[in-house]
Amino acid sequence: MEGFLRLGLSSWLIDQCSQLGILKPSSVQENCIPPILEGRDCMGCAKTGSGKTAAFVLPILQKLSDDPFGIFCLVLTPTRELAYQIAEQFRVLGKPLGLKDCIIVGGMDMVAQALELSRKPHIVIATPGRLADHIRSSNTFSIKKIRFLVLDEADRLLEQGCTDFTQDLQVILEAVPAQRQTLLFSATLTDTLQELKTVAMNKPFFWESISEVKTVEQLDQRYILVPEKVKDAYLVYLIQKFQDEHEDWSIMIFTNTCKTCQILNMMLREFSFPSVALHSMMKQKQRFAALAKFKSSVFKILIATDVAARGLDIPTVQVVINHNTPGLPKIYIHRVGRTARAGRNGMAITLVTQYDIHLVHAIEGQINLKLEEFKVKEKDVLKILTQVNVTRRECEIKLECTDFDEKKEINKRKQLILEGKDPDLEAKRKAELEKIKKQKKKFKEHIQETMQKKRDAQVQRKRKKKHLREKKKKAAQ
Ligand code: AMP
Repeated sequence: MEGFLRLGLSSWLIDQCSQLGILKPSSVQENCIPPILEGRDCMGCAKTGSGKTAAFVLPILQKLSDDPFGIFCLVLTPTRELAYQIAEQFRVLGKPLGLKDCIIVGGMDMVAQALELSRKPHIVIATPGRLADHIRSSNTFSIKKIRFLVLDEADRLLEQGCTDFTQDLQVILEAVPAQRQTLLFSATLTDTLQELKTVAMNKPFFWESISEVKTVEQLDQRYILVPEKVKDAYLVYLIQKFQDEHEDWSIMIFTNTCKTCQILNMMLREFSFPSVALHSMMKQKQRFAALAKFKSSVFKILIATDVAARGLDIPTVQVVINHNTPGLPKIYIHRVGRTARAGRNGMAITLVTQYDIHLVHAIEGQINLKLEEFKVKEKDVLKILTQVNVTRRECEIKLECTDFDEKKEINKRKQLILEGKDPDLEAKRKAELEKIKKQKKKFKEHIQETMQKKRDAQVQRKRKKKHLREKKKKAAQ
């Protein structure tokens, strides 16, 4: 308690913290809260699960209590689920203030959101795409007077990944005042440091947790080298093993595509495992329902794409399984950070095929730690191999009978339209590119074939010459 008092927080906030079991400031809180209270911009880079959210929620609530008005603070975050999680911390810690918050994310009713925004909530927590839509289409609210702008998972918001937020961010940054406090937090800030400095312009206070290893100590990090074709059998084997040995454990499985996520979920359910899927092709209500069921331990297994890789705080998660080796070390760090949070233990197991070994080396280089092998009795896995592969094939066929691929196509078209592109023109361009690629491939194959023929003819000629020489030799004898 004294710790928080020393940081300059008011006693009502310290009481709220203690009700949540937050008794002593974590180091990101210890280091970032005082400069934020002093009015400085702040960039905080700390391991995932180390209390970053409270590091900005607490000082913002304190400042809000000094001068309450709406809209006081805008928090941007890359995923809808994280927006709800952050709002929850604001609500619980800000209860004595009668805090009014508003969540603005995609997949929800836009009219209801516009109405909420017009009621001047103290805090708005948003994903950039939907908020930018509101700014473009409505003049019933203003963020021109906000005191705080927070970018949670700031590097993700600024990088140009599969979802590119940069255009939406530009719209938002033009709508907020230049005079504001900007707070940027993530577990992986260093790659985008320069871009971040252009958002936090007032000589930000920069704090990074000093640690050689980029993941937490209590996390046991393992790998299993598996041939691609038996990966699913290993997955089923691992889940069965953990379920048999630890009834109360929850497991998160990460996959690289929505389709794999969907198929694996169907497959695990065929094996009577209590699993739910979470990916961006699901409707928003289904996404929330899936997460709620997993959080409340009604379902002990969550299969997700990287939409769930960052920030989610679910204390019961004991194991993270990477069904695919992440292509970027940064994604690995966020995925495995879903376990071993706030001082708890946890385990991460990455399934590595012969094609992914270089990726593991890159991960090990970045986190500064060697992954250890997770020993498995191969004989036991082979026993279930046929059954698993047949079940997976059946699930694939079932999925093909649904409109999953069609929906994917529609989503892609929607995305292109939102990016201001013509989907038909893009499809034409793609087809032309494919055609050129095919022609190139054919040409290459033709050259290779001709060269091979030449080589064969040469070998044939040499053989004939040798044969003739030997014949002559024999005749001379
Ligand atoms: P975060 O990194 O913000 O996602 O927080 C991870 C978890 O740690 C959350 O469940 C917080 O409630 C919890 N937490 C935050 N600060 C502290 C603290 N100082 N002591 C113990 N737990 C904390």
